[in-house]
Amino acid sequence: MKYLLLIALALLALWWWRSLAGRGTERSQAPKQPPAPPPPQDMIACRHCGVHLPGADAIAGGKGSYCSAAHRQAAEGQ
Ligand SMILES: [Zn+2]
Repeated sequence: MKYLLLIALALLALWWWRSLAGRGTERSQAPKQPPAPPPPQDMIACRHCGVHLPGADAIAGGKGSYCSAAHRQAAEGQ
């Protein structure tokens, strides 16, 4: 029963510390470099090798998209 109380106290302290930390980051409104914006294109995984590439560069095949014509051939056997 004693341990239960200790765990409850630890969780409460953790929650309190995290809420304080969260407020701290809000106050300091990132004078550092902002995070890079996500790339505008959709990333597609090659169905053969799994490499990710922009959707515009992908080669469309019958079963999915590929990074190159060679991988489309290898996966679809055409
Ligand atoms: Zn590939």
